[in-house]
Amino acid sequence: MTDFKALAAPGVQQLKPYIPGKPISELERELGIENIIKLASNENPLGPSPKAMAAIQAEMDELALYPDGNGFELKKVLADKHGVDMDCITLGNGSNDVLVLLAEAFLKPEDAAMYSQYSFAVYPIAIQAIGATHQMVPATDWDNERPMGCDLPAMQAAITDQTRMIFIANPNNPTGSFLQADELKAFIASVDKDVIVVLDEAYLEYSPADERVDGSEWLGEFDNLVITRTFSKAYGLAGFRVGYALSNPDIANVLNRIRQPFNVNSLALAAAAAAVNDDAFLERSMQVNAAGMKALEASCQRLGLRYVPSKGNFLLVDFGRDAMPIYQSMLEKGVITRPVANYGLPNCLRITIGNETEMARMVEVMEQVCG
Ligand SMILES: *Cc1c(COP(=O)(O)O)cnc(C)c1O
Repeated sequence: MTDFKALAAPGVQQLKPYIPGKPISELERELGIENIIKLASNENPLGPSPKAMAAIQAEMDELALYPDGNGFELKKVLADKHGVDMDCITLGNGSNDVLVLLAEAFLKPEDAAMYSQYSFAVYPIAIQAIGATHQMVPATDWDNERPMGCDLPAMQAAITDQTRMIFIANPNNPTGSFLQADELKAFIASVDKDVIVVLDEAYLEYSPADERVDGSEWLGEFDNLVITRTFSKAYGLAGFRVGYALSNPDIANVLNRIRQPFNVNSLALAAAAAAVNDDAFLERSMQVNAAGMKALEASCQRLGLRYVPSKGNFLLVDFGRDAMPIYQSMLEKGVITRPVANYGLPNCLRITIGNETEMARMVEVMEQVCG
């Protein structure tokens, strides 16, 4: 038998595949139980925006046709929302698609790209798939004023002549940590103009408006800045796979050369365009998240568990011992959370904020298992 792994590109051979949250259907099959709740993939417990649902219905009759490969309608509403030209927008099959396009378009095997420890697992995968060097910079520690997040001075110091791209998630996943506008902006300003800084703002919508750090406001100042956003989290459209990048038009033009011509499907385009301006839905999503976050934090305090203050729709909780048996016990009670040992956090679980009923159950189960 041919050794196909040996035939794979060198970077690919060394990849560790992404480990997704356990689907409800899988746990149903394994344990034969019902009423499972999934708090493992930072999905929106409210489901999709009702406006998105209506748009999907209206689009169904057109399914025999290819989608609009330029995504005109969605780009138009996004351009209005962000006050940018349409040629600054690159649509993706989830923002994951855009992250991979950035790596494919701009990284060569002799280059390096940087990210923080305990940040999104897709960054090293995208970098390594190219065969480029991935530079992981240690995160701040638990005792830091802003724990378990990007250490920007350390990242700055770690930049080499090889470094061509820097990925920063703000707020960060899986820790929920966040950076302030002034420190982040100063960091971007300090980076050479031929190094692309990718600011992944998948959880931006969960910050109250007056605390939001919105990197898209800096696009006019920094040609090498790329912002990525997604419809998978606050907009409740994870199953549809749609996200986008905002950048200067020259970067968008490069990405457009390697993008699959129809990388976003027609239902997703319609759903996202309808959801963009559903402020009432976003507002409700934020309120449900804030209430659920409070309940989970209170439970952690009762149990004496530390956690990272989070500006996302999830909380990283440290159980102070191997978290796998805790994860398993909660699974058996029908609650799916996310182990993060693959991120180097074997004592922690990442818990997504669900709706009120789900959080009541989550807290009860966690207190049974840990109490
Ligand atoms: C969930 C997430 C994404 C979004 O992924 P999609 O491909 O848009 O579903 C991007 N970045 C981070 C940090 C995330 O947590």
